[in-house]
Amino acid sequence: MKLTYKTFLLEFKHPFGVSSNTRKETPTIFIQLELNDFKGYGEACLPVYLGETTHEALSFLEKAKMVLEKITAVDDLSKLIVEINLLDKNNNAAKAAIDIALHDLVGKIKKQAVWQLYDLPEVLPRATSLTIGIDKEEVLIQKIKEAEEFSILKIKAGTDNDKDLIQLIRRYTRKPLYVDVNQGWKDKERVLDMMFWLKEQNVILVEQPMPVEMKKEMTWVTERSPIPTIADESVKRLKDLQALNGEFSGVNIKLMKCTGISEALKMIDYCKKNKQLVLLGCMAESSCATSAMAQLMGYADYIDLDAPLLYKNDPFEGVKYKNGYVFLSDRPGIGLEPKKDPEIIWSDNL
Ligand code: MG
Repeated sequence: MKLTYKTFLLEFKHPFGVSSNTRKETPTIFIQLELNDFKGYGEACLPVYLGETTHEALSFLEKAKMVLEKITAVDDLSKLIVEINLLDKNNNAAKAAIDIALHDLVGKIKKQAVWQLYDLPEVLPRATSLTIGIDKEEVLIQKIKEAEEFSILKIKAGTDNDKDLIQLIRRYTRKPLYVDVNQGWKDKERVLDMMFWLKEQNVILVEQPMPVEMKKEMTWVTERSPIPTIADESVKRLKDLQALNGEFSGVNIKLMKCTGISEALKMIDYCKKNKQLVLLGCMAESSCATSAMAQLMGYADYIDLDAPLLYKNDPFEGVKYKNGYVFLSDRPGIGLEPKKDPEIIWSDNL
């Protein structure tokens, strides 16, 4: 099996603001695995807040290359993914890239979509939220207009004037909202007051209201909150989910945090058995990783898979969006095809 990779800068249509920063682009690495005449694609999306650098991810891919070079047939996909995982303690995004590409490759060889490989229920189109980053009033209004066909909006909050922000949005739309605080609130009593206020504003859920280390305060809030609290920064992998002790009502599962489809499925299974809500989310990824995650939509309580819509230079075609719904393509694997333009030249390794 041959591994090639290419670094790429995904460019936002609008600069993207969260409580800690605003950025214009996201570095990502696309990988290709080739076996016989089949090609599988994967992605390691590396926004700064993930804390994994391109340099580290590329060194990990070089390590993985040595393992994958020896593979002539994928007889046991899960065993191979475990082996890749054991190469390093970190580099979750690079691990996810390989997991995604392996699933794509095996799906193409077997002429099945990933959900069929695992015998999951058929994936039907699902409504996704569309994320509106922190921005100036006139830009927010423009974004709300552009989001007309989406039935749910996700608002990036976590500043001192979140009530003003929500009230401003409410002047232009009554749509249900997901609010992502990105650890921005610190006072548990005020957080709980906000939860009640947000419920009145037709907010469906709040993601990561408080900093990761404020576990006791988070449990206190979740026990009393009238709307679900969803972990994001607090839960990367299955072990983090297992370590929770009532802090949240559910979890935002992302392939870049959890090392890929294989572990995401284990996390979903754990959530179902432990009455935790499942939000399927994404980093600011291209269609590549998002199409992979969309294969698991059948099991989610909430879908937040809008990232490809935020970019102007996505080099792949995979999931489709219509009337605010995410549709899988009918291609095998993760359902992906590289666009002809812009073309990625895979032989051009760094
Ligand atoms: Mg989040």
